[in-house]
Amino acid sequence: MSFDKPIFETKRYEKQLPIIGDMGQAKLSNASATVVGLGGLGNPAAQYLAAAGVGELVIVDGDSVALSNLNRQTLYDPGDVGEKKVKVAKARLSSFNPSIEITAVDDMVTEEGPTLPETDVLIGALDNFDTRHLLNEISIDRGIPYVHGAVEGSSGVLTVVVPGQTPCLNCIFPRDVDRRVEGYTTGTTTGVTGSLMANEGVKSLLDTGDLAAGYLLTCDLSHLEFEKVPLERNPDCEVCGSL
Ligand SMILES: [Zn+2]
Repeated sequence: MSFDKPIFETKRYEKQLPIIGDMGQAKLSNASATVVGLGGLGNPAAQYLAAAGVGELVIVDGDSVALSNLNRQTLYDPGDVGEKKVKVAKARLSSFNPSIEITAVDDMVTEEGPTLPETDVLIGALDNFDTRHLLNEISIDRGIPYVHGAVEGSSGVLTVVVPGQTPCLNCIFPRDVDRRVEGYTTGTTTGVTGSLMANEGVKSLLDTGDLAAGYLLTCDLSHLEFEKVPLERNPDCEVCGSL
């Protein structure tokens, strides 16, 4: 598809330009966000970051699409089952917004790697605490914000780690506690929580509004109860205690 980029972009973003301004849009276009995990949370998070016009999206996942993903992972079709998630997601997101760069990393984040590219914000769209803690450490090491979201059943949680200012993930959920969950959830729960994660990512890139920083937002979507649970830094935290 060929298009005149400036006209295309002005038109494409005309409903948000009065809110974030031309400068804000330019800021987003020069920014990079990394979404780790392309499941129920990572799908809406990546879609809305792409929709907002974040100039570089790094998407990271080593998994393939399964049929049981499709109740909540709207980037994929039944015909994608068995395909690598990053490959399908990169194609869909590039077609959805051709003026942004998508970098696909077909791998799981582990102690051994891969080394994630430089980025302005980390979006942790994961289903396990081992990888969440690795992202938390990368966030603290690099001094970049980390948006943490998680779901279970019809409930979601959200917080943003701002290194040196807020509690880190290890202050909130110490690493040595086993927190395995069953992994049952609904598409609207991951959709709401993943969209909130994209919203925090955009706010942190624009440096506007109030981040979900220093508290855990809990959303019980069965009863529509939202609560902000205050969090405190652990001065002895082995990850962020020295900041
Ligand atoms: Zn900490």
